[in-house]
This record gives sequence, structure tokens and C-alpha cells, in this order.
Amino acid sequence: MRPEILFPLFGPIGSLKGVGDRVAPLLERVAGPRVRDLTFLPPQGLIHRRWALAAAAAEGEVQTLTVTIDAHLKPSRPGQPWRIRTFDETGVLTLAFFKGFGPHLEQRHPVGAVRVVSGKVERDRLGSAAQIVHPEYLVPPERAGEIPEVETVYPATAGLPSRAVRRFVVAALERAPSLPEWLDSAWLERQGWPAWRPALAALHSPQAEGDLSLQTPQRRRLALDELLAHQLALGQRKQSRREVPAPVAAASELADRAQAALPFRLTGAQARALAEIRADLASGLRMTRLLQGDVGAGKTVVALLAMMDVAAAGLQSVLMAPTEILARQHFETLQGPLADQGVNAVLLTGRSKGAAREALLAELESGSAQVAVGTHALFQDAVSFKALGLTVIDEQHRFGVSQRGRLRAKGDVAHLLAMSATPIPRTLELTLYGDLDVSNLDEKPPGRTPVATRAAPMTRLAEVIGRLRRAVEGGAQAFWICPLVAESELLDVAAAEARFTALAELFGCSVGLVHGRLPAAEKDAVMARFVAGELAVLVATTVVEVGVDVPAATIMVIEQAERFGLAQLHQLRGRVGRGSGQSSCVLLYDPPLSDIATRRLDILRQTDDGFLIAERDLELRGGGDPLGLAQSGFPAYRLADPIAHRDLIAVAADDARLVLSRDPDLASPRGQALQVLQALFDWRADGAIGEAG
Ligand code: ADP
Ligand code: MG
Repeated sequence: MRPEILFPLFGPIGSLKGVGDRVAPLLERVAGPRVRDLTFLPPQGLIHRRWALAAAAAEGEVQTLTVTIDAHLKPSRPGQPWRIRTFDETGVLTLAFFKGFGPHLEQRHPVGAVRVVSGKVERDRLGSAAQIVHPEYLVPPERAGEIPEVETVYPATAGLPSRAVRRFVVAALERAPSLPEWLDSAWLERQGWPAWRPALAALHSPQAEGDLSLQTPQRRRLALDELLAHQLALGQRKQSRREVPAPVAAASELADRAQAALPFRLTGAQARALAEIRADLASGLRMTRLLQGDVGAGKTVVALLAMMDVAAAGLQSVLMAPTEILARQHFETLQGPLADQGVNAVLLTGRSKGAAREALLAELESGSAQVAVGTHALFQDAVSFKALGLTVIDEQHRFGVSQRGRLRAKGDVAHLLAMSATPIPRTLELTLYGDLDVSNLDEKPPGRTPVATRAAPMTRLAEVIGRLRRAVEGGAQAFWICPLVAESELLDVAAAEARFTALAELFGCSVGLVHGRLPAAEKDAVMARFVAGELAVLVATTVVEVGVDVPAATIMVIEQAERFGLAQLHQLRGRVGRGSGQSSCVLLYDPPLSDIATRRLDILRQTDDGFLIAERDLELRGGGDPLGLAQSGFPAYRLADPIAHRDLIAVAADDARLVLSRDPDLASPRGQALQVLQALFDWRADGAIGEAG
């Protein structure tokens, strides 16, 4: 229920004076459908309308001049503007109007009248007379006060200039009421921040460039408001998730035996994660847990042991992978250990068809198969389980939100374990996964040799190829990655094809090519030949699946490495170095490298820790979307910037946790103010893992 005090802000933008049927859709595109959305639209820039004399008016600058009307020059043919020649004591200024207002202009601005005019000054060439096309202001001197010296610039769109947007923002701000304070008052005082309404007013009236910064007190306050509203929503969702009953699966001897049969011992991190999962599975309440760990951290075996417990409890598990090839690989890894303990697993992919598919489905329905591994084919409604106890989603960031939603709906009471290798810094994790319980595999299995990483300019391509050739002759396998960066995927594919052709000529038939434009079956076939060792070199665009395990491959060559995000380079590099032998990674770049690009590639050479890499990348870029967060269901904040305000994310998360533990129903006076805050930002559940769609 929306509190009444917010009603004025939630009116449609069409309710603002001057916003008619033509303007409303344009304004909606720029800001959003409601009055509130305009108040949340941060200004983009500032215009200083400086006073000038005609002779000195600066080309390209917005200037204000006092002039006398000298003559109206009618267009001599269609397409020409109506001109007004004006002058001041230093020279001439021409005003040009391209729309047919001529006679009207002549009437309003008669020859001899004095006018104050403001707009962007143009000159054909140095020293030529100044001109202003469509001045923004042309008023008699007594109305010069209407011309702001500093003007706030807003995002505009065709048919709706910034000035119009600004006018509507001002109108929208008048609807903003004073609201009860929801931030902790002691904190607010310490920070010296304004209250909500004054903060909003200050956001929209910058006086100097510095006032546009993301770090002004007013902007930080508004950012914290937004982050707090989000963290509260996530916290509440976490609370309510924990209250859903789910089947009990206790730690089992079956899993212990499987663990004892592994050819290695679990790392401390794996053991910890398993213990956390087991506590959830035995709790009788539904688990919603994220198992996060860098590539190669060993997430699969943790999932395997959890599935063993679930099987021992007489329940079924399903493991979902984003691609066919990954699903197949998981099945091959898991089937042996599962079968050794008498657990029956089936593989179900888009390619399971006809009678074979029917048979698999029957096994799931009757419960004779306790584990299903598969691709999204498993989402299809025809699949029903006898007693689904656990759903595991591998590489969860690769699944679309709606797919996750459908999955959740199917296994409504099943526990959910999502696995992700996206290394994101802790602070950002709070905003992405604040509604989940998180287990971190922050330790890699022992005995891995770090991948020897070096950078080389494209000018040394021949040398790199020569070495690759010697390595291949010695039996090595290599990935060769071509980037997907051009506007047109076709161009990128063509580049990959050219590289493939060149290498195939040199190396003979032992080179394969995969890219996103290949039909899935063909792509899988090539990958399978590479996995089987029939191909020595695999040329690929970034379709090389995150998570594909080709232990024999020891060489990774990445072309135009400067174009990839660090996190992506790290994941690509993680495809090699899986065995105990020495692996290497060559980052080929087009010289010259910018300073930042050099430092980014250096980070990769210096460390192997995905989280550290992500954090450094963030610092180096200082903004933008280095981790591809936009694609991973990251919330679209309006006032907060997840990078610039990341210190505030932790503040918001701590505060939300504290508030919800003390006042879960938000009933206290501060709690009630927080309810207003939540309604103001109106957080919905989109982007959340496991939310029914
Ligand atoms: P990811 O976390 O990237 O999914 P995987 O589960 O594919 O990693 O594991 C990577 C490799 O490490 C696999 O070959 C797996 O058998 C191996 N592995 C997993 N845990 C351990 C361990 N504790 N000790 C040694 N090797 C391990
Ligand atoms: Mg994996």
C-alpha cells in the first residue's frame, strides 16, 4: 500500500502542467511514467549564460547580449531562415529562425526595440559576424531576469529539448512533499547531509560543475536512500524465503562414502560450504543459497555431495547447465561417483528426443532416477519429478531471469543451490545477492600450477605462432580466442574464420573453429573433438563455454586482449592450468597500448585471484560496467552508482540488517518512515534468483 503522502509524486507525468499527449511519451522515454521519475532524473550538465558584447561573443559558447533590432530580413527563397539583424555598441549579431514565424517576429520585435538575447553563438569563420540560430531567449530588458545565468542541463530526446525537460523537472519538484526522516539521525548529523527534500532540491540546482559530482552530500544522501530501500527489500525477501517449509535431507552416510571415494580431499573452503549447505538441507526450511567460487575452485563436487544427501533422503535432484556441452560434461563427471553409491542419474538435453526422451521422463516421474542433469530442456513443462528435493543451477549468471523464474515455479518446495564463477567484489555482491545466503569457495584445490601469463604485441604474431606450432608438435592442445567486439557479429566471425584458415594452413587439419553463428549441433561436435584430443587447436570467439573442462589443454592465446574485460580474460585463462603441468597464456594486443590497458594486462600477469582482479579492475576503470553487471541482473539504480557509491552499499546493507533484526515489521517510528522510503523507490523483485516469474 502506497502511503498517501506520496500520492502527488506518483501521479502520471501527464498530470504536470504543459505535458500533453505529444510531450508525455517523450518525457516518459527520458525519465519514466511518473512525476517521481522526473525528480529522480539527475542533471547532466550546466550551461553558464555569460554576458558578452557582439564583437567579443565567443563562437560555440552560450552567451547573453543586449542588442537593438536593426532590420528584419525576409527569406528570399524557401528553406532560408528569417533573419533579424541586431547590433550593440561593438558590432552586429544576426538571429536566424528557420520556422515560418516571420511576420509574428516582426510584430513582437519591431525595428528599434532593445532586446536581451541568449543562445549559442556561431561564426562562419574567425572574425566574421556573430549569429545565433533559434535563440533560447529573446526578451525585452525588463524581463532579462527570466534568463538564468546558470542553467541545468537534462537528458533530452528528439522533440523534447533539455530546457523543456528542465521546466517539467521544476514542476515535478514542486510536488515533492517533505517526508519523515528515515535515515538514522545520528548518522545523518555526523555526515552533515541534508534532509530528503532539500537534498533533491540541491541535486537539481547545481551552481558549478562540482555540484554535478556523484560525491556531493546531496547526491550521496539520495544514493544511500536508494541503496537502503533496495537492501531492505532484499533483506525482507531473504526473511520470507527462510520461512518456506521444504523437505528435510540430513547429512548421510551415502555422501560420506562418496566423499571418501574421491581421489582428493576437500579443501577447507569446500568443507565449509558443504557444511553450510547441509545445515540448510536439514533445517526443514527452503534453502536459497549461492555457491560462489572462482573458476576451478571445485564447485561441482560440493554439489555432488549435496545431491548424495538428497538421494539418501529419498528425494531427487536436478542439475542445470546453461549449454548442452556443459551438461554433458557434468553428467560424465557425476555419473560414476553417483552410480558407485547406487544413485541413478540421467542426462536430459534438447537432444533427448522421441522414445528415448519419454523413457527418461518416465524415470524421473517414477523416481527411479534420483538425479537429472541437463540443459534448459529441463524447464519444459512435460518434465515432472516424483519428489524433487534440490535444484542446482550451474553458472547461474548465464541463465535469463525468466528461465530462473520458471525453474523456481516448477520445484516450488525444492531447495535451491545456485553456483556462480563471476568474481565480484564483496560490496557489489551485497547488491546482487543480498537476498541469498552465500557460501564462498575462497581457496583453490592444492597443486595447481599458476598459468604463466605474458603479453605480446601483434607484431610478434609470427613468433607466437611458431612457438605454438612447436608445442602442438609436442602434443599440446591450445585455445585461440578471437574477440567479439565489432558492431557487427558477422565481421567478428569473419575475423575468426580468417584466423582459422591461416592456422589450419600452417597446422593441417588439426584445427577447429567454433563461433556463435554455428548451429548448436555443429558447435558441440567441434568442441567434442577438441575435448577428445582430435583437434590440437580450437579457434573460438568467446563462445568457449565458461566451465568447459579440457584438462589436456595447456595453452591459451587471446587476440586483442586489450578489448576484453579483466574478469572475462581471467575466466578465459581459467580454461587452462587445470592439470598439474605448466600452462601458459599469451595476451596478444594491438600496439600501442594505452596506459590503463597496460596496467590492466599487468594485473592479470601478477595475480590469479579472480576477486582481486575484479576489485582492481573496478579501481582502475573507476566506473562504467567493467564486470558486465548490466547483464547479470544488476539493479538499475537511478541515483546510486554501484561503483562510485560502493562504500555506501555496505552502509546500507548493515543498516538494513540491523533494522530488520530489531523491527522486522517496520512498525517503529523510524520503521514507518522506512516504509515510506520503500514505497518511494518501489523496489520490485526483478532480477532475483529463484523468484517465481
Ligand atoms: P568450478 O568451480 O570451476 O566448477 P570444477 O568443479 O570443475 O570447478 O573443478 C575443477 C577441477 O578441480 C575438477 O577437475 C575437479 O575434479 C578438481 N577438484 C575439485 N575439488 C578438488 C580438490 N579438493 N582437490 C583437488 N582437485 C579438486
Ligand atoms: Mg563449474
